Parts: sequence; structure tokens; C-alpha cells
Amino acid sequence: SIVVTGATGNLGRHVVEQLLEKVPAEQVTAVVRSPEKAADLAERGVRLAVADYNAPETFDGVFAAGDKVLLISGNEFDKGRVQQHRVVIEAAKAAGVALLAYTSAPKTLTAALADDHRGTEKALLDSGVPYVLLRNGWYHEVYTENLAPVLEHDAVVAAAGEGRISSAARADYAAAAVAVLTGEGHENKTYELGGDEAWSLAEYAAELSRQTGREIAYKPVTVEELTGILAGAGLPEPVAAIFAGVDASIEKGELVVTGGDLSRLAGRPTTPLADAVAAALKA
Ligand code: NDP
Repeated sequence: SIVVTGATGNLGRHVVEQLLEKVPAEQVTAVVRSPEKAADLAERGVRLAVADYNAPETFDGVFAAGDKVLLISGNEFDKGRVQQHRVVIEAAKAAGVALLAYTSAPKTLTAALADDHRGTEKALLDSGVPYVLLRNGWYHEVYTENLAPVLEHDAVVAAAGEGRISSAARADYAAAAVAVLTGEGHENKTYELGGDEAWSLAEYAAELSRQTGREIAYKPVTVEELTGILAGAGLPEPVAAIFAGVDASIEKGELVVTGGDLSRLAGRPTTPLADAVAAALKA
């Protein structure tokens, strides 16, 4: 079967939804921590497996020989994500899965946030399991789902200078994952995934202005200032520093992804940022 971890997360939901357009529900297994969050999937015939990256024994029997697995990276930044992901890799290896795809980060990204992804990639390659690295670039939604402070102050605040970002919608990255899980010939391939068009934060502010009819400006700040702003908004200081550090990478161009792997795998152009802005303003 096709097994998706993190299935009740934002990306996982898109992946399962798109899988169900291509294969019968009984061929899909959703790995979840909270089955009540996946009741709708079970109702539609998706098999549920309850497991937690922090508890290796919960992965006993989750995978079977020949399965194709998507390991969606976790979001518990303080819990040792490499070790968490290794739990999944070891269980997949023991079962003899046919393929293990992992949602990683662009090879160009040197920010601290990427360390867990590089560590997981190494563990996956060392395991000998047939792998696919889906090196996902940024989501549009990282920006468009956080519009409240932007609209409150009519300002896009970031520490990314004039750097550009090749973001795409979560649904686009999900389409690439589904192509890999349902297609052939992806064993031991690495894909650098990003949107077809890169944009700067000044351009993002201009697009917001155009769609709202207001004057929304890009307000560049330093990484230190942004860390303070994020901490002030309630993020733990180390996490704030990690997120602000991503902006330093953006300024250096590390989230520009070229080569077109994403639209090629998805079989269509990626979602324009303007569409994600429109959807967010309507929501
Ligand atoms: P979400 O935070 O919506 O989903 C994370 C998923 O991981 C959830 O399903 C969550 O389970 C699951 N998870 C977390 N910890 C564990 C655990 N210990 N055991 C089992 N499952 C666990 O993120 P997205 O879906 O939006 O993105 C997927 C991943 O991509 C993120 O987790 C992160 O690693 C990365 N990411 C990428 C971004 C990008 O722009 N490319 C931006 C932000 C994150 P549950 O549903 O039970 O909470």
C-alpha cells in the first residue's frame, strides 16, 4: 500500500486527498497520532495506523514489504527530529518497503532549520532503503496564512532584504509527492522543488496592496530585530532565532529553486503566489 505519515497535517491532508483521486482508498494508509483527527479518512475507507515518531514500538507492523512510504518531516523542533525520522526509516527498512520518500529542504538552504533535513537525508541514504528526496522549497502559505499582523500594520516585516523566494502552494508539493508515490522510476532520485516564479518581499507587499486596495509596504528589518519581534509575539527565543535565520538565507538567495522539478512532477505549472494571496484574503 501507499503509506503517508503526518497525514493529519496540512501537507499530509493534501497528499491523501490527491492520492484518493488516483488509487482506491483501501490502498492508502494514513499514519496519525490522533485517530479522531482522521475519522473522515477512515470513513472513506483509508486505513489508519496510529504511531508517534517519539515511540519506536508504535511503528511495529505499520509498514509491509513492497509499501511506498512518504515520511513527512515532523514539526517538534525541540525533540530531535533526526532521531524521530530515524525511527520511521528503521521500521521501513525492517519491513522491506519498496520506496521511502522524505520531505526535505532545498540543497541550497544553509539556515539552522535545514540541519535536521540534512541529518535525516544522511540516515535515509545510510539505511540502504530505496529513497526519494523531495527537497521542498517554501510554501506560499508560510506567508499567506500569516496575514493578520500584515493587515493590522499595513506592513510586511521581514529580514530578507531583496532576496527572492521560489515558493509554491502546499497542494503543488503534494502533487509532486503523489506523482512519486504512484509513478515509476523515482528510486534514489533527488528533486529540488520550488515554484516556477521567484518573488521578493517588496513584490509580495505590492501584490497585497493591489488585491486589498491599501498601501502595504515592505519593511525590511535586521535578523536581530526580527528575532525580537517573533519572540515578542510569543515564540520561544531559540525558535524565533531559527525562523529569523531563514530570512538571512533568503537574502542570500538560498530559497531560490531552479530547474523546474516541481511543475514537471506535478504535470502542470505551480500555483501563482497571487492565487494564494487571493484565497487567503477570501478566507
Ligand atoms: P504541519 O505542522 O501541519 O504537520 C506536521 C505533521 O507532522 C502533523 O501531521 C503532525 O501530526 C506530524 N507529527 C509531528 N510530530 C509527530 C510525531 N512525534 N509523531 C508523528 N507525527 C508527528 O506541517 P505541514 O503539513 O504544513 O508541513 C509538513 C512538514 O514540512 C512540517 O512538519 C515541517 O517539517 C515542514 N515545513 C515546511 C515548510 C515549508 O515551507 N516547506 C513550512 C513549515 C514546515 P499531528 O497531525 O498529530 O499534529
